[in-house]
Amino acid sequence: MQSMRRFVVTIDGAAGTGKSSVAQELARRLGTDCLDTGAMYRAIAVLATDESIDPNDGPSLAKAVEEKGIRFDWNSNPPTILLGGEDVSKRIRDLDVSSIVSLVAKQPEVRTVLVEQQQRIGREHPLLVTEGRDQGSVVFPDAAVRFFLEAKMDERTKRRVKQLREGGAMVEDSQVQQDIKARDKIDSTRVDSPLACPHGAIVIDTSDKSMMDVVDLMEESVNSYLSK
Ligand code: C5P
Repeated sequence: MQSMRRFVVTIDGAAGTGKSSVAQELARRLGTDCLDTGAMYRAIAVLATDESIDPNDGPSLAKAVEEKGIRFDWNSNPPTILLGGEDVSKRIRDLDVSSIVSLVAKQPEVRTVLVEQQQRIGREHPLLVTEGRDQGSVVFPDAAVRFFLEAKMDERTKRRVKQLREGGAMVEDSQVQQDIKARDKIDSTRVDSPLACPHGAIVIDTSDKSMMDVVDLMEESVNSYLSK
C-alpha cells in the first residue's frame, strides 16, 4: 500500500451501522489515514450552538466555519477534531449536538465548504479510508473501493447507546432511537447529497457481525481489488 501513490476506500452508511470503528480498524490494517467526516458536520453543529446560529441558516454557518476553521490533528490516533484550534472531540458526541447536526448537514452552503475541505484532505492524505454519508457518491466518486453499511434499527440503537454510555452520557434507549430515526429521515430526504448507496458499492449488513468480521470482509474485498 505504501508504494501506491493514491488509494482511497470509502465507507458510507447511516448512524449506528458501525462505520467509525470499522473505518479505524481497516485503516490500521491497510496502513492508511482515516477520515471521520461526520465529526466535521458535528463540529459545525457545536459552532451553531456556541455562537447561537440558526442550524437552518446555511450562509451564516458557512461564513462562521470559514472564519473559525475546522481541522484535524493528524498526530493523534484517531485524529482529534479542532474547532478554532480547540479540541471538540468529546463535545461533538453530545446528544444536543446530535439533535441538530442533520439540520446543519442539510444546508447546501455547509456541504460545499466541507466537500471542498474533504477533497483537499484527500489530496494531502492520498492513502485514505474515509467514512460518512456521501463519500463514495459525491466526495470521492473515483475511490478504488466503496462500501455501504446497513444494520437493523435495534442493533444500531444498541451500538449508539453503548458508545454514548462508554463516553459517560446518561441516555435512554428510546431517546437514542428517536435521534437516529430523526437523523435518518433528514439525511435520506435532503436535496443535496442524500444518504444513498453509491453506485458500484459493496453492501454489508453488519447486524449480526462483529466489528472484526466486517473488517475481515472489507480487507478481502480490498485485496481482491489489488490483485486484479
Ligand atoms: O457519522 P455521524 O453520525 O457522526 O454523522 C453525523 C451527521 O452528520 C449525520 O447524521 C449526517 O447528518 C451528517 N453527515 C453528512 N455527510 C457526511 C457525514 C455526516 O451529512 N459525509
